[in-house]
Amino acid sequence: MRPTLLNPLFGALTTLPGIGPKVEQLYRRLLGREDEARIIDLLFHLPTGVIDRRARPKLRDVVPGTVVTVAVKIARHRPPPPHRPRVPYQIYASDETGDLILTFFNARRDYLEKLLPVGEIRYVSGTTGLYDHMLQMVHPDRVVDEAGLSKLPLVEPVYPLTEGITLNQIRRAVDAALPKLPHLPEWQEPTWVSRERYPPFAEALKTLHRPNSPADLSPDSRAWMRLAYDELLAGQLALALLRAHLRRPAGRATPGTGALRKQLVDALPYSLTASQSRAIADIAADLAKPERMLRMLQGDVGSGKTVVALLAAATIIEGGRQAALMAPTEILARQHYATVAPLAAAAGIEVAILTGRERGRERTEVLERLRLGSVHILVGTHALFQEDVAFHDLGLAIVDEQHRFGVHQRLALARKGDAVDMLVMTATPIPRTLVLTYFGDMDISELREKPAGRKPIDTRTLPIDRLDEVIDAIGRALSEGRRVYWVCPLVEESEKSDLAAAQERFADLKRKFGKWTDLVHGRMKGSEKDAAMARFAAGETRLLVATTVIEVGVDVPQATVMVIEHAERFGLAQLHQLRGRIGRGSERSTCLLLYRPPLGETAKARLEIMRQTEDGFRIAEEDLRLRGEGDVLGTRQSGVPGFRIARIETHGSLIGTARDDAQLLLSRDPTLSTERGEALRHLLYLFGRDEAIRLIRAG
Ligand code: ADP
Ligand code: MG
Repeated sequence: MRPTLLNPLFGALTTLPGIGPKVEQLYRRLLGREDEARIIDLLFHLPTGVIDRRARPKLRDVVPGTVVTVAVKIARHRPPPPHRPRVPYQIYASDETGDLILTFFNARRDYLEKLLPVGEIRYVSGTTGLYDHMLQMVHPDRVVDEAGLSKLPLVEPVYPLTEGITLNQIRRAVDAALPKLPHLPEWQEPTWVSRERYPPFAEALKTLHRPNSPADLSPDSRAWMRLAYDELLAGQLALALLRAHLRRPAGRATPGTGALRKQLVDALPYSLTASQSRAIADIAADLAKPERMLRMLQGDVGSGKTVVALLAAATIIEGGRQAALMAPTEILARQHYATVAPLAAAAGIEVAILTGRERGRERTEVLERLRLGSVHILVGTHALFQEDVAFHDLGLAIVDEQHRFGVHQRLALARKGDAVDMLVMTATPIPRTLVLTYFGDMDISELREKPAGRKPIDTRTLPIDRLDEVIDAIGRALSEGRRVYWVCPLVEESEKSDLAAAQERFADLKRKFGKWTDLVHGRMKGSEKDAAMARFAAGETRLLVATTVIEVGVDVPQATVMVIEHAERFGLAQLHQLRGRIGRGSERSTCLLLYRPPLGETAKARLEIMRQTEDGFRIAEEDLRLRGEGDVLGTRQSGVPGFRIARIETHGSLIGTARDDAQLLLSRDPTLSTERGEALRHLLYLFGRDEAIRLIRAG
């Protein structure tokens, strides 16, 4: 239950004056809320800058183009001539050093006469400019008299806006929201707070919304640092609670005999890389411990994670238990099945597959064998969570492309067995700062080297107007027997027209290259996609026009050429993933990135990085720099909440501290029931991490 103290903050925005249901819809968009926008969401919507009205020069000293507040005496009004409404209404004013014209368009005379009465002193604030060699201010932002001046906020926050909401509306809404901030118990360590000179939470929020100087709004100001640390601590605390929850039911030690692993390794057509061996040893050591394993295997595309997963599974099977391997897509699940099953057969390991496509008899039979324990590894998609999927004794859950699944899904799979060990794999190398942020609950193994014998990929960028040359080059490649991917982008907003573009390109290329050409896209049925991939893998077709459905995991080592059309539309991580489909065999590979000029700064930088490097870790770092963290993780698919206040560039270095802090807190107070623990519950609610509190209870 949410602490009652917080209720005013979780009230609907519509409880604020001036925000009706219609405006609330606009706020939803602005605040990124799918359902109801709440007061707390508005309070976390921080200004991006200020308008600084503190400059109070004499007119002689005004620098045109700047924002100033000046005291002027109103000399005369010059309304537009009758029937010429386009001519501005001008008011002449001056101080002892110079003149200023105040200019208004479509103004009402009676209103202006009241606002700026002739002969009086007024304080006007706004942006100045020079027109016709005269100093002017068009539509001053503020006009006040002596009494009003004392109340004029000289530093005004500027907020990100959305269509239909003005700056003044947001400021008014924030004005109404700030008094709802209750006095909250301090959840941070008091001595640390005072040493860092951090203001209390509520005061920090007030400072950012009501800055006294532009410096207050700098991400390294005391107020911002405090809130960022709060947010990071909430995140780390939630992860630590999750970790504690996952580990609480004691694990089962499954040491394994090594027998199956030996048979598998002997049957492999290659020898393991050093980092593969290390990862396998890490995993075996985890499995042998009576605690639950929670390990992430990070490795670039093509670094050979699948065989590590298989050997992990073999270890648990040696101990008489079963393993599940879950992939985010049908294609990928089938691909895993196709690679793993024959290798596993060498050691007498039975592998089955279960996706949304297995139905009826076939499905019943798999489930039956699974229950009896005669299926040792079950490969599948989300279908593995289904109610009637019951294992004989699931010991290890392996989740591939883990960023595409949420925490719930990890938990759902873990519930299919008793004390299930968990191995998650990701081919999107994640920068270290972010690993801690989002996966602080896991141990990490990394596959940093590529399997031996790989040749570097030659990556080039070309403007689309050189398409003819590209097509000629593809013709030559095909006649040499090479296999080519041709990727057309699929952008969600206009899936249909993008698909049309892919189909059109396919038709083009087919006219040129005939039967060698094939098409695979996301709208096709699963079985059709598989068939197209299988034809390509078998060499029956050699030029595969594809939308990004080939992005993940698909492995055709003979494919050595990739053309990516509209490469400027893809993110770095995606380009890297796509390119990872080639360069998997021992032949030289080429990647052609076609773009439509003119390129924006970021797109140019992305393509340049792609040309320079194949190192996924470096690409991930650059991606973070160019795009911000949400996109690196594909936040939208996985539902990992991003940050509202913390900025990785400025506050990233606090993550480690927050992590240690969270661990220390929980080791002293695992159920958050001391006074400080109660205060921390407030923190978790404020930052939407309260789901973690339920894990305490579920204990
Ligand atoms: P990913 O990490 O992208 O899942 P895969 O597991 O699909 O990579 O492996 C990519 C390719 O590399 C596969 O064809 C696999 O057979 C091969 N491979 C894996 N490990 C090695 C190795 N140690 N030496 C040579 N080839 C390997
Ligand atoms: Mg893989």
